[in-house]
Amino acid sequence: MKRRAGESKAPVHPRGHRPVDNGARQSASEPREMEEQHAVTMLETIPDAVMNLDESFRVLYANKEAERALEKKRAAIMGGVLWETVPRTGGGKFEKEVRRSVGQGKSAEFEGPFVREGEHYQFLISPCESGAMVFIREETEKRRLRHALQESEAWKRLIVDSVKEFAIFSMDPTGRITLWNPGAEQMFGYTAKEMLGQRSDIIFVPEDREARMPAKELAEARERKHAKDERWHVRKDGTRFFVSGAVVPLYDGGGKLVGYTKVARDITKQKTAKDQLEEEVGKRTAELQKTVSELEAFSYSISHDLRAPLRSMRSFAQILVRTTRDKLDPKAADYLDRIMAGAERLDRLIQDVLTYSRVGRGNMELEPVELENLVRTIIREHPSLEAAQGRIILKEPLHNVRAHKASLSQCISNLLTNAVKFIPPGRTPRVQVRTEANNSIVRLWVEDNGIGIPEIHRERIFGMFQRTPEAEKYEGTGIGLAIVRRAVEAMGGHAGVESEPGQGSRFWVELPAA
Ligand code: ADP
Repeated sequence: MKRRAGESKAPVHPRGHRPVDNGARQSASEPREMEEQHAVTMLETIPDAVMNLDESFRVLYANKEAERALEKKRAAIMGGVLWETVPRTGGGKFEKEVRRSVGQGKSAEFEGPFVREGEHYQFLISPCESGAMVFIREETEKRRLRHALQESEAWKRLIVDSVKEFAIFSMDPTGRITLWNPGAEQMFGYTAKEMLGQRSDIIFVPEDREARMPAKELAEARERKHAKDERWHVRKDGTRFFVSGAVVPLYDGGGKLVGYTKVARDITKQKTAKDQLEEEVGKRTAELQKTVSELEAFSYSISHDLRAPLRSMRSFAQILVRTTRDKLDPKAADYLDRIMAGAERLDRLIQDVLTYSRVGRGNMELEPVELENLVRTIIREHPSLEAAQGRIILKEPLHNVRAHKASLSQCISNLLTNAVKFIPPGRTPRVQVRTEANNSIVRLWVEDNGIGIPEIHRERIFGMFQRTPEAEKYEGTGIGLAIVRRAVEAMGGHAGVESEPGQGSRFWVELPAA
């Protein structure tokens, strides 16, 4: 380094970089030395790269920021000529302009892609006693970003250190702890000193440790960019507590894995409350289910037991008619017919109630059902539909559905029976069966040209024993559609109706496509 010691043109030097140590400590009390020390301290703290040059543009002093900006140690910077020390100054032109402005005792500003490729710098050269001062400032946006980063680092530290409700800890790529915040100390009972450099295994319960959960968690974080978990952990004192946590992998600018950070929260209280609630709900549901099945068994046996005396009433009435009709006066014969019709009607009612209590009960396993086949079989085998054969048109192809076959069969036969039943006198029934498929849902339509249903009744008729006034002239129990809705909903579907009173109804059933 070229310097004329003892000259009046005193350069500024950083501490420890005084070229000649001629008793600096003692002379620091002198006003000029004090001033110099202050100047150096200030230069060391400002965020610009600062260099002090001698008259031949050699570096006498470079501050800490200059080391960072030029990516060189001070020893390598000092003594070098400005245009050789600062890369990418562009050679002769820069040198000429610097020499000229310093020679004229004027400051000069330059701006350009100095120092590193792709970056932008501002240069200020200002003549001073010793030669010149050089200030190099990174382009503003970069500085802003860097400061924002420094600030966010400071925030991060503040958060990590002050947050006590959350355990925050980091691990290196091999899973060893590199950071353990006070929240983690409090939650797990281990101090940072105990944990730094260790694996996180000891905070896992033995079952999870055996299942290699600590490593699995990190692998999942790498694969899916984060891993969330809720599991039991164990404290230093052996007590267990329930933790909700999330791990994120950390990568450097080049995409290399540099470690992981985990944030965890003790949710034992919530977990215990939830478990208690679930237990309570489970208990109540079980009680309710028991009551429901008792009721179902009861209604089933009542319906069943009711049919036996009914059957004997019908049988004896029939015998009476058969054996004594000739001897009976017409009035008595009419009464007997009414008794038999009443018994028959009651029997149908009981049968329908039985069917209703049976559908949707127990495990409704769904399977693919070939709808076309099923509808044809129902038409062929159902007594009341057989007569209407030929008047029921299948608009092929019918889409297949996923359903409980017996329940679906019950639904379709109820809809078809109604479709051919609720026809005004003198009108020939015309029924169309078709399907529509939409987003893996199949809608089955049963359309008739019957009496139709006034709007106010369209929802009601799916309830038990609900009939429209218009239906009074037709046989029925008012249970058929209740069975349809109950069965369809038990299969995860829906049922409904559209209608033009006097002209016909369109009943529909929606089920998953097969
Ligand atoms: P039921 O047919 O035994 O009366 P449902 O539960 O099958 O009982 O039907 C309930 C009521 O809905 C019927 O009484 C009738 O009023 C009306 N309904 C059902 N299907 C039709 C239809 N296709 N056309 C007109 N009304 C209908």
